[in-house]
Amino acid sequence: MIELTHISKIYNENIMALSNINLRIDKGEFVFLVGPSGAGKSTFIKMMLKEIDPTSGNIIVNNVNLSKLKRREIPYYRRNIGMVFQDFRLIPEMTVYENVSFAMHVIEASSRDIRRRVPLVLSMVGLSKKANSLPGQLSGGEQQRVSLARAIVNNPSVLIADEPTGNLDPETSRGIMELLKDINNSGTTVIMATHAKDIVDSMKKRVVALEKGVLIRDEQKGGYGYED
Ligand code: ADP
Ligand code: ADP
Repeated sequence: MIELTHISKIYNENIMALSNINLRIDKGEFVFLVGPSGAGKSTFIKMMLKEIDPTSGNIIVNNVNLSKLKRREIPYYRRNIGMVFQDFRLIPEMTVYENVSFAMHVIEASSRDIRRRVPLVLSMVGLSKKANSLPGQLSGGEQQRVSLARAIVNNPSVLIADEPTGNLDPETSRGIMELLKDINNSGTTVIMATHAKDIVDSMKKRVVALEKGVLIRDEQKGGYGYED
């Protein structure tokens, strides 16, 4: 469970990026985070990862108060959050298999667990046959599926996707959304920041809308609500 209470973020130039945000996301929810450029979506995501701290307010994730986390505890906290980006961020010199297994090496998983888990996750995203390919040999949609595999391989309780379909065509995007739905249905909380109006409107999931740092809308089975 994620709970933000009275979260504000003021950057040095006196920019109020987030203003008194109160938000509760239950385990297993699927939430779209929408809003125009500059609304505060990236700031929200960076706070969830504890890359930045709020100016005031509290964030609690699975009973952990992020403001009380010690520096050495941050890497352990982050293991619990899978992250997917618009630009995939795969390691170009590593094969698909290595990109995914590396995430398990980092948390010092045993070789045995890695050998068991990586093929399973690659098959979940439909990439078993591409295990030995390099990212540069894959289509954009395939690269994003590798990135999803890497994000979930350590079984995070939360998956944050920042514009995951931003570089993909509509058909490929639908495939990525199906995977995100599967991941969500297996119990992972999914938070997806997006400008993809069609996707938000078709999924009928919770929509949280920010505008100039203010939470202006929070709807179950919501729509995108903008014409940008
Ligand atoms: P979004 O992701 O919705 O586009 P951001 O969280 O990036 O929004 O930005 C929210 C506001 O905070 C904007 O006005 C932006 O210019 C400002 N901002 C973001 N990062 C910084 C920073 N490091 N320093 C100063 N202002 C920032
Ligand atoms: P899209 O599905 O986005 O149209 P492409 O047409 O680029 O993607 O790729 C179609 C298939 O060809 C994919 O399975 C991809 O992995 C494979 N492929 C593309 N480029 C290469 C390459 N340089 N070497 C090996 N396989 C490739």
